[in-house]
Amino acid sequence: MERALEPSLTIGRLFGIRISLSANLAIVFVLVMWTLAVGYFPAQQASSSDAVLWALAILGSLCFFGSVLVHELAHSVVALHHGIPVARITLFIFGGVAQIGREASTPRMEAEIAIAGPAASFVLTMLFASLYLITAEPLWPIATLCLWLAIVNGSLAVFNMIPGFPLDGGRVFRALLWSITGDYRHATRVSSLVGQGFAMLLVFYGFTVAIGPEGMLLAGLWPAMVGFFIYNAAAGSWRMVKLSEELKQVTVENVMVRDVASVPAALSVQQFVDGYLAQQRHLRFPVLDEDQLIGTVGLEEVRSLPIDRREGTVLRSLVRDLEQHPPLEAGERGDRALERFSEAGVEALPVVEGDRLVGMLRREDLLGVVQVRGMLSR
Ligand SMILES: [Zn+2]
Repeated sequence: MERALEPSLTIGRLFGIRISLSANLAIVFVLVMWTLAVGYFPAQQASSSDAVLWALAILGSLCFFGSVLVHELAHSVVALHHGIPVARITLFIFGGVAQIGREASTPRMEAEIAIAGPAASFVLTMLFASLYLITAEPLWPIATLCLWLAIVNGSLAVFNMIPGFPLDGGRVFRALLWSITGDYRHATRVSSLVGQGFAMLLVFYGFTVAIGPEGMLLAGLWPAMVGFFIYNAAAGSWRMVKLSEELKQVTVENVMVRDVASVPAALSVQQFVDGYLAQQRHLRFPVLDEDQLIGTVGLEEVRSLPIDRREGTVLRSLVRDLEQHPPLEAGERGDRALERFSEAGVEALPVVEGDRLVGMLRREDLLGVVQVRGMLSR
């Protein structure tokens, strides 16, 4: 799913969380703006000038994304409050997604994080509805906009409370099952099946609208696409649970790569490229400063530097230090390591035993081992 969010543009940080816009968001922006300017506003008050309508439509589209952002921020702030890191929030074609570092450790925590989003949307609904009532007479354009935003936020709250995983309501449902049965795996299985069932209904509904007598192809396409998206996410989250079950059986040192060369921090970036990146199959290397591990550097950082500056830049300045990405312990469990990868947002992490660097672990090595274990058990 993360792949679907690329390429994206970071617009800033809130509460230490990176806020990104996915490129495909532009489609929704135009669609929302168009619907408002050509459909909704003229239907409410036909007499206003085109310039006012379009200005309102742009404002409406911006507030729409602002509302989605507030929803995701609410999830994130509660997660942070529980000590779960949130790397970033991305707004994309089907709404928003907060990259929450790991799953909640108790049903109560999960329910609190899940319910925060719809609760925030509900508060916004009330806020915009009140603004609508206050502004209704004297300021009709603002009032119509507020009414629309109240409806949008209300729909956001209601839609997300549908009890199918991965929707927020599905998470609350899972937390409930989890607390009753004490079985996280089973709770995930059931709630993701409900999520898949709901998604299939949505796809079916979309198709009947699209091919129906009204001929509303576009109007039907949208729910069908959202349905596909939810179906995949529901199936994916079940796969993730199975994955982490498998990974509980392995430790980092079983899977890590031991023969990764470490790089002296004093090299130039060009020397690093010539001697390491372009020569070996690894994309990220541990960096040593006087035999002391100071962090890692990889393809990503090198590519962020203009090519003509590689010669004159010392590698140390590109290093992602250990504070940003604490190394893995050799004895750490595989499922915990996988969570550490989502938290860090990198493809490889150094592995230490005490103070000593003993290898590198790549995300793909963890996934590879699960694949093999899966084949062996069939
Ligand atoms: Zn939500």
